[in-house]
Amino acid sequence: MQAVTVENNPAKVARRELMKAVAVIPGKPNTIHLREVPKPAVSDVPNGRGVLVKILRVGVDGTDKEISAAEYGAAPAGDDYLIVGHESFGVVEEVGPNVSEFKPDDYVSLTVRRPGGSIYDSIGAYDMTTDDTYFERGINLRHGFLTEYVVDEPEYIIRVPENMREVGVLMEPMSVAQKAIEQAYRIQQRLRVWRPKRAAVMGSGTLGLLATLVLRLRGLDVTTFGNTMPPTLNSSLIEELGARYISTKQMSLTDASAKHGPFDLILEGTGYSPLVFEAMNVLAKNGALAMVSVTGGSRQIEVPADKINLGFVLGNKVAFGSVNANREYFETGVRDLSTAELQYPGWLKKLLTHPVRGLENYGEMMRILTEAKGSIKVYCEVIAIESWQTSVAAI
Ligand code: BGC
Ligand code: ZN
Repeated sequence: MQAVTVENNPAKVARRELMKAVAVIPGKPNTIHLREVPKPAVSDVPNGRGVLVKILRVGVDGTDKEISAAEYGAAPAGDDYLIVGHESFGVVEEVGPNVSEFKPDDYVSLTVRRPGGSIYDSIGAYDMTTDDTYFERGINLRHGFLTEYVVDEPEYIIRVPENMREVGVLMEPMSVAQKAIEQAYRIQQRLRVWRPKRAAVMGSGTLGLLATLVLRLRGLDVTTFGNTMPPTLNSSLIEELGARYISTKQMSLTDASAKHGPFDLILEGTGYSPLVFEAMNVLAKNGALAMVSVTGGSRQIEVPADKINLGFVLGNKVAFGSVNANREYFETGVRDLSTAELQYPGWLKKLLTHPVRGLENYGEMMRILTEAKGSIKVYCEVIAIESWQTSVAAI
C-alpha cells in the first residue's frame, strides 16, 4: 500500500501552512525568486522518524552561482522549481515519536546527498555512489535548505554543539574538506607507512581555508595558494594558522614546490583545472593529489604527458577525485571545528564575512556572492540566532 504523503494527498497540501523559500527555475538563468511553499511536517517521514528543523543560517557558494546561472541543478520530479541552499545550520523544532537521536532545541546541520541505488548508497556512502543520477538537496533533484523549515530522517542530520552555533554554518564546506583529506590518508595505507610532512592547498576561499585548518590540525607544514596579492583577510587567516600564503601572481606552484616542497599531499580546489596537471607534475614521490574542483566547462590544454606519466610511475604517485561528504565527515568535521575553536580561538568566525539578513534579501545575497571582493563566506541569516534564543527564553 502506498503511504499517504503530502505529495499524493492534495487535501493535506491545501491545509498546510505556507512558508517562504528561495528557489530557481532550473534551466532558466537568473530566475532566483522568493515563493511560498507548504511547510513540511514530521509526519512527512514514515515510521515516526521525522525531524523538523527550523533553519537559522544557510551558506552559499560557487555551486549556487552556477545553479542561478542555469549551468547546473535540476528540480525534483513533479516540480518546475528547485529550492536552493545546501550549506545548512538550524535548530530542531519537533521530532517524530520514534526519534531518540535528537530533541527540540538541538542545533544541527544536514548532509546534502540522499542515497540512490548502488551498493555504496546502501551502506551510507552515498557520496561514493556509482549511479549516474545523484540526489543532492538544494542542487540536484531534491529541494534545499534556503527556507524556513525542512524535515528529514536522523541519518542525514548531525548535531552541532551549542557553543559552536556561531560557526555551525561552516559544517558543509568543512565536511567536503574532511572527506578529501581523510580519503588521501586511507588511500595512502597502500604504503604501510605514510608520514606526510608538507601539503599544498590550491585555493584560499572557504574550502581552501578549512582544508588548511584541517591539515594544520594534523600537524603538516601547509602552503596555501590564492590568486590575490597579500595582505588580504584570507592570507592573514592562513598565516594565523601557522601556514604559508603564496599568491600565484608572485610564484607558481612549480617554483613554490622547489622552495617549500616537495608536497606529499596536494589538494586542488580552485576550479581552474589546468592546475591539476601542474600539481601532478610537482607532487612528491609516494604523494597524493586530491581533486575537488567541480569544473563544468570544456577547457582544453596541452600537458607534458610523458613527464607527468613518468613521474607518476617512477614515484608511485596517486591522484583521486573527491565529491560531497556523508555523515561520517560531518562528524569528524564538527570535532575539528571544536578543536579549532580551542586551538585558534575566534578564527572560524572570521570566515563569516557577509551575512545577509532574511530570505527576502536573496537578491542582495546573490549580488554579494557574485561581485563582492574580499568575501569569504556569504550566508543568509534566515533568523538571527540571538532572536531565536530570545523567543525560546520568553516561552
Ligand atoms: C557541494 C557538494 C556537492 C557538489 C556537487 C558542492 O558545492 O558542496 O555537496 O556534492 O557541489 O554538486
Ligand atoms: Zn557547496
